Amino acid sequence: MRVELLGVRGSTPTPGATYVRFGGETSCVALCHDGEPDPSLVLEAGTGLRQLSARLTGPAYRGAIALSHLHWDHLQGLAFFAKGDHPEADVDLLVPAQLGRSGVDLLSLVMRPPGFPIGPDGLLGSWRFRAVEPGPCTAGGFEVLAFDVTHKGGRTFGYRVADASGSLAYLPDHTAHERPPWLAEVLAGVDVLVHDAQFLPAETATARAYGHSTVEEALELAQEAGAGRLVLFHHSPTRTDDQLDRIEESLHGIPGTVVARDGMVLELGGGR
Ligand SMILES: [Zn+2]
Ligand SMILES: [Zn+2]
Repeated sequence: MRVELLGVRGSTPTPGATYVRFGGETSCVALCHDGEPDPSLVLEAGTGLRQLSARLTGPAYRGAIALSHLHWDHLQGLAFFAKGDHPEADVDLLVPAQLGRSGVDLLSLVMRPPGFPIGPDGLLGSWRFRAVEPGPCTAGGFEVLAFDVTHKGGRTFGYRVADASGSLAYLPDHTAHERPPWLAEVLAGVDVLVHDAQFLPAETATARAYGHSTVEEALELAQEAGAGRLVLFHHSPTRTDDQLDRIEESLHGIPGTVVARDGMVLELGGGR
């Protein structure tokens, strides 16, 4: 499995000279099976999703997109994903079931006039909007386990994704401080944990008020779960490159932990 980070920023895109090295695009992680040229599962549709079009070898995206929740920073790339909004596109979009609404109705809560020019049914190609419940399913040829996590404002899932070559868990927005005991079991032994690390210990009160985690809480959860690698993700929009460098320096001596940056690629299992 190849994991490509296309957007690593939390809350809102952050253009500007002090953010270019780690990147300002919001959440998007593309997963590709070994031996296949193109990703077939994309976690999240943040602004980083726009970058996927240039990566694809074909004219249109054919695969799945799984949303952890419906906050703006996880959705704003959707309508600007040129090879998704294409007559030949064929996309399964997974969204956490809630409010007794269908998948397309849930997307319409955040994507429709007058807030946005089109609704989800305005996207070109063949799109299926699936409101999913916690539990196992398949998407883009991956085995996917969806589970509830604590966050602020709307139902939020974490996903554990696997194929024959490896496994990855994705919890971009998570109040780790309030995690239930079973979460470490769900994440047990995962090859890569991509986790919310929006705040620093000095910002703990803000992290909890906004439903997020600190770097230390992410480290603690990764250790508890026995994760092979930890990717600190969903950086605060105020965190400059220099500040992220300092976080990276503070991790020396903690094997397998990295600060996410745009364009980072992780190979799992045998890789290619
Ligand atoms: Zn977010
Ligand atoms: Zn959120």
